[in-house]
Amino acid sequence: MAIQTINPFNNKVIKNFEEMTPDAVDAAVGKAETQFHSWKKTSYEERSALLHKVADLMRNKKDQLAHTITLEMGKLLAQSAGEIDLSADIIDYYATNGERFLANKVLDTEFGEAYIKSSPIGVLLGVEPWNFPFYQVARFAAPNIMVGNVILVKHASNVPQCAQAIEELFTEAGAPAGIYTNLFLSGKNASLLAADDRIKGVSLTGSELAGASLAEAAGKSLKKSVLELGGSDAFIVLEDADIDQAVEWAVVGRMNNTGQCCVASKRMIVLDAVADEFLKKFTAKLTGLKVGDPMDASTELGPLSSEAAAVQLADQVQRSVDAGARVVIGGKRIDRPGAFIQATIITDLKPGMAAYHEELFGPVASFYRVKDEQEAITLANDSPYGLGGSVFTSDKKRGENIADQLDTGMVFINHPTWTQPDLPFGGTKRSGYGRELSSLGIEEFVNKKLIRVSELTDPF
Ligand code: NAP
Repeated sequence: MAIQTINPFNNKVIKNFEEMTPDAVDAAVGKAETQFHSWKKTSYEERSALLHKVADLMRNKKDQLAHTITLEMGKLLAQSAGEIDLSADIIDYYATNGERFLANKVLDTEFGEAYIKSSPIGVLLGVEPWNFPFYQVARFAAPNIMVGNVILVKHASNVPQCAQAIEELFTEAGAPAGIYTNLFLSGKNASLLAADDRIKGVSLTGSELAGASLAEAAGKSLKKSVLELGGSDAFIVLEDADIDQAVEWAVVGRMNNTGQCCVASKRMIVLDAVADEFLKKFTAKLTGLKVGDPMDASTELGPLSSEAAAVQLADQVQRSVDAGARVVIGGKRIDRPGAFIQATIITDLKPGMAAYHEELFGPVASFYRVKDEQEAITLANDSPYGLGGSVFTSDKKRGENIADQLDTGMVFINHPTWTQPDLPFGGTKRSGYGRELSSLGIEEFVNKKLIRVSELTDPF
């Protein structure tokens, strides 16, 4: 993939970037490794001060950064601004709480003293996606810089200006060179880089293909990987739910970021007793969305991130229809320039159809009618993915009971799957492994060293 800014609103190429030469990459990794030996000796106060500064700068430049996000990947401008706020909150969260999370953990032992001390492991490589170009980086970089690790980021090729802007924020905040380094690299070369001995761990958020490629390279070199991959979250609506509220949340859950969230509510699974009412109201909401320029505050449905993404999604819908699925609304590209596709609901989906098994990364909702709660659970779990999911019910205990039976890393009751700094984020099955955010996210690339203090007279 060429590294370039293409505005998906009109598919015009705005700017091209060169991939780094192997020598330049080698020098960047070398600088990071050298810097690690100093950075690991800094105090938590020093690391925290740097991160707070980055968060402050991010907020100060919110309008400009949000504009860059929208320009490069088409997110509605207000949502881009919201992403900057969330990213700054994550950075502040680790700056404030990191030291507490990493404090020595004293162990209960039969005799003598023992504790676990957390220490950094070195240079880490993060491979990041375009769909939340600041948030995804924040949740990888902030905890690890707080640990004392140093970061190399290979960002998605369609958001190079976002990638550069993040590195500049660290530089402006006073980060010594090598703490945070942006690498302009192809995906293939990022996987090859995972074999470099100076890199001690890798993390990827993105597709299964890319995740498998990077994790394979890391595994061959015996280093740890964290993978945050795709999802096809179920949005289960029980017969006792407040349907109007559920519909409001279904629209947000499916359409936020023009449907391009790993944790978007991709499969609406509704109990028969309320299915007609839900579908009628959900259809009315999606039909009324105003299509237009994502820079315009009145727009409700912008373009996808790229022409290729729109072509792929339209093809997934068409393959499903060819196999017998029914389009309730939409289903086609919008007849205008840019990477637009109609807000779509498809139904009558069966195993074997593309939309039944594959992730639909855009404004296309799958609608399933089920006879009861058990069928809803079985259907929800009949997916290769296990990222998030939601249950809508007026009976919270019933919701928790269903949550317990869903094979996913996260379940939200009466809310679409979402994220905040203090909630762990991650999946099971083909959605990956490891966790980001919360206290769990800071522990992934840490040496949890046992220190045992014995008396010379203690038994063997
Ligand atoms: P993608 O193609 O996998 O791209 C993600 C990143 O991986 C990009 O930086 C990409 O670089 C890189 N990449 C591509 N091929 C690679 C390879 N062989 N080795 C190493 N890196 C490689 O994913 P996408 O389709 O753009 O992003 C959407 C996917 O990400 C969806 O499946 C979504 O659900 C998932 N996602 C998951 C989470 C989560 O937390 N679980 C969050 C957000 C998104 P190039 O751009 O240069 O190809």
